[in-house]
Amino acid sequence: MWNWLSIFDTSGYPARWDCGPAWTSEPIWGWVHIVSDLAIFGAYTAIPFLTIRFLRKRPDVPVPRLWWLLATFLFACGTVHLLDAIIFWWPIYRLAGIVKFLTAMASWATVLGLLSVLPVMLQLPGMSQTVPAEPVENDEESKSRIAELRIVNHRIRASEESLRQSLQAARLGTWSWSLKSNLAWLDQSQMQLTGMGAKAGTIRMEQFLERVHRDDRDSLNRALKQAIETGQPYNYTFRLYVPGRGYRWLQHRGAVSPNSRHASERLVGVCYDITDQMAEQDAMRVRTRAIEFATNGILITDTRSALQPIIYVNPAFEKLTGYRASEVIGKNCSFLQGPGTDPVTRQHLREAIQLRQKCQVTILNYRRDGTPFWNSLQISPVENDEGVVVHYIGVQTDVTQSVENERRLREAQLAAETASRAKSEFLANMSHEIRTPLTAILGCADSLCRDLASEEPLATAKTIRSQGQLLTGILNDILDLSKIEAGKLEIHREPCSVLSVVHDVCSLMEQQANDKDLKLVTKFDSILPENILTDQLRFRQILLNLTSNAIKFTNVGKVEIWVCCDRTGPESKLTISVQDTGIGIPKAHLDAIFEAFTQVDGPIVRRVGGTGLGLTICQRLARMLNGELTVVSEVDRGSTFTLTLPVDNEELLSLEELNQRRVLKESHASMDVVIPARILIAEDTMAIQYMLKRILSPIVDEVVVVNNGAEAVEAIVQAQETRPFKLVLMDMQMPQMNGYDATARLRHLGLDLPVIALTAGAMAGDRERCLAVGCTDYLSKPVSRSQLLHTIQTYCFSTPEKV
Ligand code: ADP
Repeated sequence: MWNWLSIFDTSGYPARWDCGPAWTSEPIWGWVHIVSDLAIFGAYTAIPFLTIRFLRKRPDVPVPRLWWLLATFLFACGTVHLLDAIIFWWPIYRLAGIVKFLTAMASWATVLGLLSVLPVMLQLPGMSQTVPAEPVENDEESKSRIAELRIVNHRIRASEESLRQSLQAARLGTWSWSLKSNLAWLDQSQMQLTGMGAKAGTIRMEQFLERVHRDDRDSLNRALKQAIETGQPYNYTFRLYVPGRGYRWLQHRGAVSPNSRHASERLVGVCYDITDQMAEQDAMRVRTRAIEFATNGILITDTRSALQPIIYVNPAFEKLTGYRASEVIGKNCSFLQGPGTDPVTRQHLREAIQLRQKCQVTILNYRRDGTPFWNSLQISPVENDEGVVVHYIGVQTDVTQSVENERRLREAQLAAETASRAKSEFLANMSHEIRTPLTAILGCADSLCRDLASEEPLATAKTIRSQGQLLTGILNDILDLSKIEAGKLEIHREPCSVLSVVHDVCSLMEQQANDKDLKLVTKFDSILPENILTDQLRFRQILLNLTSNAIKFTNVGKVEIWVCCDRTGPESKLTISVQDTGIGIPKAHLDAIFEAFTQVDGPIVRRVGGTGLGLTICQRLARMLNGELTVVSEVDRGSTFTLTLPVDNEELLSLEELNQRRVLKESHASMDVVIPARILIAEDTMAIQYMLKRILSPIVDEVVVVNNGAEAVEAIVQAQETRPFKLVLMDMQMPQMNGYDATARLRHLGLDLPVIALTAGAMAGDRERCLAVGCTDYLSKPVSRSQLLHTIQTYCFSTPEKV
């Protein structure tokens, strides 16, 4: 086998220097050969290398295959000369022979290549046609031709510029793709749109395709190929990755530009960014789908036509009404209404449409099969660009179930209200029934306690009194809670002295605290409002309950009532904290204690008793007074209940001043008085007659007792002429003529003496009813001695005035 390395074998060949004496005798000729060969080699090699370098910088310049042949041929010639120079020292004739042979092949290939392109080259314009020749003096024709050419040239440039500006304004990019070189040329706009072609606007087509979204790449390639093959215009939408802006939707339109031989040479076209339109289209598609998938019935009407026909209904409409779209399109939607549809609602809808307004109604509609359904219908106008309403969109919801539920709920509520009213009536009656004898028992027990001297009967009387009071307390709690729950507890706001209430509560509770060896102390802020506008009775009730609980659940230490005025917020607040050092409340029960009938389970609670209603009532009352009641507590360390009430009176006084004012007021009130007056008691219950008489006899001039309203009127009328009564205590529930009728009669007769109503009813409305018939004031049984005296004193010493 032939060994290719043998081409480097020089045996048998002498180096050229040794090929004859002339070479050594006249070496100058040898050197002329060597230098010339090397120079030729350098030049032949430099030409293709320089051209390659140039082409690398200008990838846009198309390189014909013939050029590559020519470059090979030049390089091969150069190599032959190089070997000729080398042979002077190294006789590699074999290798040189092969290189020469290859050079001969390349030379003939070039000759053949040239032969094929020569005819085309011969048709190319000559230099004189492409570059205007220097004007020849006196050649007038040439001069005018040049001037013409210049004008045409100028016009072409101007129109090119305006085309460029128009394209830019339209944000259209243009491109041209050479099919031969596979290079694409992009204009400025196209470069901006694609973010490519930074270097002289030229890119390789592969570069461009790489950036096309991979889902669009194949189909784009196919579209391009088809355009090239068929010569048909090409129009394609695809996504291109633009650095910094992500994928953009581009629309490409182009056409093949054929060369002089009608062969496809390049594809030229325009491109624009349609990302925004695509996004809009996408959104539109989603919206359309949403309407189609909506569970609400949707219909669109055309308001421009007098009939206002339906132009669209969604599938949910079809499902809801049973009508197919084809049956309703073109009709006015009134076909959905029927005999049970409320004409007022119908009119309301019509008016809204006439006024081009939105509207929401619940209307009875009918399905295709005639079954009715309640439709919650919302209609909204749709305006065109000129602000004219051209459509109405109606959204329907089948609310039959909820309308039905609402109806049931209303009925249930009505039934509950009736039951609640019945309960209230029952409670009112019960309260009357229980309170009347209780008043008598307490009154009698009170009198007995005053009269009895010996210890044993006195202790019995005291027990009766304390148990009666306890019973009254429970009764009052139950009544209060039912009144609150029935929404019938009324709040009567009046200026109320904070200090008086606190001192009052303390003096009432002092004995209980002393009995348990507890200190009951009060602490006041240095400045406080003298009065706050609140319901004194309820304020006192809350404070009494909190203090009583604190004493009840404390075995050692103290109970402290701390009154502060909190001015940190936008509105001042009065906070009264009742703090004890008692058993405390476990965290888990803190919320529950405000629930009715809830007590923290434990031996102490069972021992001290209670109904578990006190705090529930207190919290509800606090809210009704626009305040709140909160608690913090720690087991075995104590509890702090804080009542917060609004302060309407911003005038704050020093504690010293407040105390002086309070002492002055109380000293006026506590003076022992004798009332020089005749008083009439109209009461049918013997026990209460007895009790009232016992309280009043030592104080007033005379007490007259009658058994019913008719007797009362008669007695008063008769007394008018002799010794008129100064005041009447009128029980409102009496046989024959009740207190209401008797008072009304008195007023009718023109008698204006004070009439104080005594009622066992504790329900809201009692007070109003009494005042309405002409009573001057109102006392709810059981009436305490001090309350009774205070009221009588008020009306006997002052000109009667209705409250
Ligand atoms: P009761 O009539 O049972 O006292 P309340 O509603 O006033 O009803 O109180 C409910 C429960 O809250 C009480 O039974 C007691 O367990 C707890 N409680 C109330 N105040 C205190 C307090 N100061 N210290 C400890 N426990 C308290």
